[in-house]
Amino acid sequence: MLRLFITSTCLLLMCCGGDSGPTNVNLLIITVDTLRVDHLGTYGAERATPGIDLLADRGVVFEQAWSASSWTLPSLATLMTGRHARSHGAVDDRRGVNQEIPTLAQTLRSRGYATSGIGSHIFLGKRFGLQNGFEEYDSELIKHYNQRRESHAQISSERLSDKAIDWIDQADEDRPWFLWVHYFDPHHTYQPHDGLTHGEEPIDLYSGEVAFVDLHLKRLFQHLQEAGLEEDTLVLFVADHGEEFQDHGGWMHRRTLYEEVLQVPLILRGPGLNPARVTQPVSMVDLAPTLYELLNIAPPAGLQGRSLVPAMRGETMTPATLIAELEGPKPVDAVRQGPWKLVIDPIDFSHELYNLDEDPGEQNDLSKDHPQHCATLLKALRAELKQAEVGEGSKVELSESDRANLEALGYGGQ
Ligand SMILES: [Zn+2]
Repeated sequence: MLRLFITSTCLLLMCCGGDSGPTNVNLLIITVDTLRVDHLGTYGAERATPGIDLLADRGVVFEQAWSASSWTLPSLATLMTGRHARSHGAVDDRRGVNQEIPTLAQTLRSRGYATSGIGSHIFLGKRFGLQNGFEEYDSELIKHYNQRRESHAQISSERLSDKAIDWIDQADEDRPWFLWVHYFDPHHTYQPHDGLTHGEEPIDLYSGEVAFVDLHLKRLFQHLQEAGLEEDTLVLFVADHGEEFQDHGGWMHRRTLYEEVLQVPLILRGPGLNPARVTQPVSMVDLAPTLYELLNIAPPAGLQGRSLVPAMRGETMTPATLIAELEGPKPVDAVRQGPWKLVIDPIDFSHELYNLDEDPGEQNDLSKDHPQHCATLLKALRAELKQAEVGEGSKVELSESDRANLEALGYGGQ
């Protein structure tokens, strides 16, 4: 395929070049719903995930990445805006992304990119604001989802990859593009897949769903390669949150901010990026600034994360304070500095302290032994939240049918 993006192969060099202009490299964002880090081969799972592992082998893998929350809407809104949840405002079922906040799609579109999204989850419906800025958006699988209460049991990864491949094949060769594809299958209710599901326990079914998504992601990655687009395309792969399997006594997600729901796989692969593994803790809020730098596009004002490009080059960045937020009947905030993590109820201030290096499963609450660490982390959390200007999410009206759909997903009473 003829491409005239002469700057694309030196993407990292260009991104440091000041006003040299956009690299015109394509951007493919792949998000997978409900994907636990420990189910991917590249993160140490026994069972390989050949598609994602292949991307990881050739990309930059972040070993400790936090989402912004433990459910879809605030997490993906942070990815698309580069702002914390309280700032973009999409924090519950009745509030979508604040319309005033520029999104990746809006900014890239204003710089000449063709922008397209393909969704598969109710929260990617237009009214929640995650479609803001996209020139075109394929909602077919979302509509299907909304029309049938049981449709969260539908399998969509195969169709998503088909749609993504078709879209890429018809894309205008004279314009760079930004395509966002959201995969849904690992979300409960977990469906069995012939040849991929081994066992009947929830974790076995979940593992089969992950294998199924991986199979179809591999097809998409292979297509990029076969179409000669790899050297022109930056790929970001990330999950919106993980999933609980009674790690802390519960199931699913949107209930706590422990690591099984907060840690997400994060991989970037693209022209000029050498394969690497980054061990420094990073956050979902850092991704928009990172993408803008890699694409050499001036970011909009108000971003609250920081570019991870230095870490991708192997430099040690100043340790960051990571935060995550969960609103709802039982709100919770989390803050991390180095190995120390504080989980706190913002209403009654009950809290737990963990050392993630020594206790990655968060089984040993050290808050009584280390009150000074608790105080330091609480102060850091407040400072971060204070910096994040509070934004009002756009109002979302829910019908009875919407409510039933959300309840079927385990989101009742939020
Ligand atoms: Zn989700």
